[in-house]
Amino acid sequence: MRKRFAKILATVGPASAAPDTLKLLHEVGVDAFRLNFSHGSHEDHARAIKYIRAIEKSSGNSVAIVADMQGPKIRVGTFAGGEITLRYAETVSLEHGDSSDKPGLIRLPHPALMSALSIGDALKFDDGKLMVTIIGKSATGLKARVDVPGVLKNKKGVNVIGAVLPMSAMTDKDKIDMDFALAQKVDFIALSFVQTVQDVLDAQKIIKGKAGLIVKIEKPSAVDDIEAIVKLADAVMVARGDLGVELPLEQVPVVQRKIIGVARALGKPVIVATHMLESMIDAPTPTRAEASDVATAIYQGADAVMLSAETAVGRHPATAVAIMDRIIKAAEGDPSYPDNSRTHLRPQATINDAISQSIRGIAEVLGVKAVLGYTKSGSTVKRIARERPPCPILGLTPDKAVASRMALTWGVRPVVMDDPNSFDEMLSSTQTIAKEQADATPGDKIIIAAGIPFGRPGTTDTLKIATID
Ligand code: PEP
Repeated sequence: MRKRFAKILATVGPASAAPDTLKLLHEVGVDAFRLNFSHGSHEDHARAIKYIRAIEKSSGNSVAIVADMQGPKIRVGTFAGGEITLRYAETVSLEHGDSSDKPGLIRLPHPALMSALSIGDALKFDDGKLMVTIIGKSATGLKARVDVPGVLKNKKGVNVIGAVLPMSAMTDKDKIDMDFALAQKVDFIALSFVQTVQDVLDAQKIIKGKAGLIVKIEKPSAVDDIEAIVKLADAVMVARGDLGVELPLEQVPVVQRKIIGVARALGKPVIVATHMLESMIDAPTPTRAEASDVATAIYQGADAVMLSAETAVGRHPATAVAIMDRIIKAAEGDPSYPDNSRTHLRPQATINDAISQSIRGIAEVLGVKAVLGYTKSGSTVKRIARERPPCPILGLTPDKAVASRMALTWGVRPVVMDDPNSFDEMLSSTQTIAKEQADATPGDKIIIAAGIPFGRPGTTDTLKIATID
C-alpha cells in the first residue's frame, strides 16, 4: 500500500516502455501512466496498454491509463535550406502554404489561422523561443515585426497569442487516435488545447462516457472560462508547457493556483504537469527548486503530479518517480498540509456532501484507519476525496473500469469486489478489506459509506463506524 495521498502520473516513452521498466515504475510509485499520442505508433501504445494491464493483474492494484491527444498543434512550413534567421526588428511575411523559398517569408499551412490573425496579435515559434507581432494584413498575407530574434527551423511549433482560433481542439488525427484509445479501453482521454466549452462537448460526443475526459488547460481562453470547462470534464490538467508559451511566464504559477482552486471546489481531480523534475532528464537528482515545485503542487491540493520527458526519454525514470514519491510524502507529512489544501471549500446541500464532510470530521476525531466507500460510478468516492480526510479512502466497486479511473484521485485506493448482499455481509467483508488493504488491526476504527440497498448509483445514504475485531 502506498503511504501517500497524491498520485503520480508518468509518461511512457522509449525510456520506460519495456515491460520490466513499467513494472518497476509502478513498484516505486506510479499510479497512472500517460501515453502521449504526439509520439509513437498505435502498435507502441497497444503494447504499453497490454503491459500495464498485466501489471494491474499481477500486483492487484488498479492503474489508470491516460491517452493524451496531440491536438491542433500548429507548425510553420519548411524553408529552403531547412531554416531562416529572424533578425531583431526586421519585417517578415507570413503567407499560406507549405514551403518557403524566399528569405523573410514564413509559410503557415493553416488557412483558418491566416484569416483569424489581426494586427497586434503575436506569434511565438519553437516553444516561445522566437516571437513576431503582426503589423499588417493584406489579401496575400500578413506582415510581422520580429520582437524576439533567432533561427527558425522547418516545422517548428507556433503559438498564437491574443486570438481565439476558429479551430476545434480535435484534429482528424485526434479522432482516429481517440477511436483507437477507446477501443483499447483506456481510462482517460486527455484533450489538448481546449479553448471553449464547445470543445469539451464535441469530445464528449465521441467518448460517450467510455473513458473519463481530462481537459488540458494550456490556452488563455480556457483559463478565462475555467469554471464552465472544468464543470463539464472528469478531471483537469495544468499543462504548464504550452501554458507558459501562451501566457507570460510569470502568469503560470498564478494560473496554476487558480485552476487547482476551481478543480478542488468542484471536486474534480487535478493534475499539475510539465517540467516538475525536468533536470532529471539527465541528472540523477533534481534541483532544490524542482523539489519545491512538486511540494507546492501538493500543498495547493493537487490530486496528481506528472512526469513527462523525465520518464519518457530521461536517463533515470525510476529514480525520478522514487524522488517524486519522497517529495510528496514529505509535504503530506507536514502538519500544516491538510489545512492548506482545503481552503475555501463549501459543501453542496446534498446527502453525498453531508456524508463526505461528516467522514472527515469523524476521521479527525477518532483517528480512523480508513474510510471504505461503496461506489458504482466513482462519484461518491470523489466527493469523499474532495474533503481530504486524513486516512486512506478504499473505493469499493464491482466495476474494473471505475476502479482504474479512481486510481488518479487523491487518497483513493480502488478495490474491485462484488457488492455485498446484506448489511451483515458488508460488515464482515469490510473487516477483511480494511486489514488487507489498509493494515487495520484489532481495535482500529474504520468508516463505511454505502447506499442501501446496494448496487444503485447515486444512493449513498448510510455511514457506519466499525471497530476491527
Ligand atoms: C504541456 O504543454 O504542458 C503538456 C502537458 O502538453 P504536451 O506535453 O502534450 O505538449
